[in-house]
This record gives sequence, structure tokens and C-alpha cells, in this order.
Amino acid sequence: MADNYLAELSVMFEIALKMGETLALEREYNNFSELLIHRMGYDYVALWLKEDGLYRLKFANPITRAERVVVDEGEEIVQRLKEGLPFKADFGEPGFADILQEKDIDRGSLAVFPLTDPEGFLKFYSSSGLRDKDVRQLETLVKKFQFVIRGCAYYERALQEIALRKAAEDSLRKANLEMEKVLEENKAMLKKISSLNKELEDKVRERTRELEETVVKLREIAIRDGMTGLYNRQHVLLLGEQAFRDSVKLDRVFSVIMIDVDKFKRVNDTYGHLIGDQFLEILGKRLANSLKHTDLIGRYGGEEFIVFLNCGKARALEIAARIKQNVAGNKFNVKTGVYLPITVSLGVATRRPGDTFVGMIKRADERLYVAKRTGGNRIVG
Ligand code: GH3
Ligand code: MG
Ligand code: MG
Repeated sequence: MADNYLAELSVMFEIALKMGETLALEREYNNFSELLIHRMGYDYVALWLKEDGLYRLKFANPITRAERVVVDEGEEIVQRLKEGLPFKADFGEPGFADILQEKDIDRGSLAVFPLTDPEGFLKFYSSSGLRDKDVRQLETLVKKFQFVIRGCAYYERALQEIALRKAAEDSLRKANLEMEKVLEENKAMLKKISSLNKELEDKVRERTRELEETVVKLREIAIRDGMTGLYNRQHVLLLGEQAFRDSVKLDRVFSVIMIDVDKFKRVNDTYGHLIGDQFLEILGKRLANSLKHTDLIGRYGGEEFIVFLNCGKARALEIAARIKQNVAGNKFNVKTGVYLPITVSLGVATRRPGDTFVGMIKRADERLYVAKRTGGNRIVG
């Protein structure tokens, strides 16, 4: 008796030890069923489990292996068991009743354990009835199995959690990679935009420079005489008047020279207007070369020129003499083989107190007229 009891205890201990080794529900089911079959001597075991709100019956025997069936009448069966009513054996495919009918199943060794009903262990069912000792042993093992099943559920949830976290990490990693890619693309785009901007800036700068040059050129065209390159009448008078006013304000000396080509009509009549034009071009250069670049000179009319100088009478006469000499001293080579001996007459006026700008020009013009009348190629000051 004592030996028997020890042997039973050791079997119980062995079964208890093997429970919960895998924490995978399916395998725990199979282990437990098979241990009950092999070690406790049952021919057939059915474990009843409430999973996800559904009652499932798990059949196991050494031949068929485990197979799970959803039991639609679960609630009803639990109720009957609670009330101590006889077990109703007809619940669904493959039909508990059908299994009971199978020839090779020993009805006497069938055990049914409602395991994880929310209220816990209910009772065993045995078609032939179990001894008290069997019931006590089974109760102990089944209670432990309830914990194993709960452990399986936690384990599964943990696995799912880990899988979820892994998936989240993966998504995060992917998102980060995407982000990096987008950032890289943006960087490339920014680089491109900035290089395009730079190109645009360069173009705008270049265009602005061209426009500025054009403006300078236009301004030059507006103020210069096209034939001689000297200031035109309007501009030389403008600058001349400014210089005159400055001289008045600062009480500085100021002089005007009027220049007119002698008998120029004859040049045109003899050689034609084109030659006349060439002559005027050369004359413009000779006049400019006779002056400092700070002196003002412009084309006043057809073959008339005007000079404004910040100097007194003596110096103005000297400059007039230089001009006269530079014109008369060398013939004008207007066309190969045609040398024109040309002279100019000059009228010089130096600012006197009370003078106006126009008054000074008029005086210089009158003196020029006197120079002409007295033979030309001379200076009257
Ligand atoms: P003087 O001054 O000695 O009295 O005689 P002039 O023949 O120079 O006098 P006038 O003022 O009568 O004639 C000036 C001539 O200058 C008339 C015109 O044909 C000529 N002339 C004026 N402007 C131009 C020009 O741009 N080109 C050419 N070829 N001739 C011009
Ligand atoms: Mg004239
Ligand atoms: Mg003349």
C-alpha cells in the first residue's frame, strides 16, 4: 500500500515537472494528454478549454493525436456540470457521442476535464465513474495545468508583444531610412536650387553690368557730338554754365574761346561734304589735343567750337594761340593726296565783374567776328 502510494506520488511528480516546459498551448495540451494516457493509464483523454470566449474540446489518444473541436453548447454543458446534472454527450462535430461510439475506445477510461472555465475547475467526468483517489490526483494535476495554460496565454501575449515591438521597430527603421532618403534628396535639391540661384544671380549681375554699360554708352551718345567726339552744344553749354557759376561763387578766373573755321564753305564746294566731314573729324582731335582734359570743349555749331577755361586772359590767349597754331601749322590729310591748308579764327572773352554766361559768349562771338573781318587766322581777345 505504501509502495503503491509512493509510486503514484512519483508519477504525479513526474507529470507535474513536465508540465509547462514549452509554454506553447498546443504542445502543452499534447504533453499533458499523453502523460495522462501513458503514466496514469487512461486510454483516452479529452481536455476542455475555454479559449477566446469559445469552448473547445481537445481529444487525445495515442493513435489519433490531438485534435481540437469547437463546442457550441459549451455554456449549457458548464451549467449542467455546475448543477451536478449528468453529462450530455452530444456536442458537435466530430461529435462527442460519435467518439464514444468508436469501438477501440474503452469507455471506462475516458476522462473529461473542464479546465479553464472562468470559475475554475468544475469536475471530471468519466463514463464509468472515477475512484476518489483518481479524482484527487487528477484535481491536483489539472489545477497545475490551469496555471500552465494561463502561462501559455501570457507567453503568447508576450511573444505577440515582442513581435509587435519588432514590427514597430522595423517600421521606425524604415521610416528613418525613408526620412534620410528624403533629406538626402532635399539636400540635393537645395544644392541644385542654390546652384541655379547662383547661376541666375550671375546672369542678373552680368545683365545689370551690360545695362549699366549701355546706360553709360547712351549717356555718352546723348552728350557727345557724333562726328568729332567732342561734347555737343547742349552739353558743353550746360557744363560751361556750371563752371561759370562756380567761378563767380569762388571768385575764380574764367574764360571762353569761340572758334570758327575760315572759309569752310569753300572746302565743301571744292571737295564735297564727305571731305568736309573728314576735315571736321580731324579738327575735333586737334582741338582736344590742344587742351588739358580738365578744359571744356564742345562743338557749338557746324564748323564752330567753344572752349571754357578756368584761367585768366593771358593764359586764355596762350591757349588760343596754341589752337590756332595746331590748326594752321599742319595741313589736313583728309584723303590720300589731298592736303587742306586750313585756318581758324578765335574770339576770347575773360570774365569781368557783373558778366553773365550768355554775355561772355556773346562777347567772345563778337571778337571772333572781328577776327574774321580783319582777315581770319587770328585771335581777338
Ligand atoms: P567764314 O567762316 O570764313 O566766314 O566762311 P565760312 O565759309 O566758314 O562761313 P559760313 O558760316 O558761311 O559757312 C559755314 C559752312 O560750314 C557752311 C556749311 O556748308 C559748312 N558746314 C557746317 N556744318 C558742316 C558739316 O557738318 N559738314 C560739312 N561738310 N560742312 C559743314
Ligand atoms: Mg561759321
Ligand atoms: Mg566759318
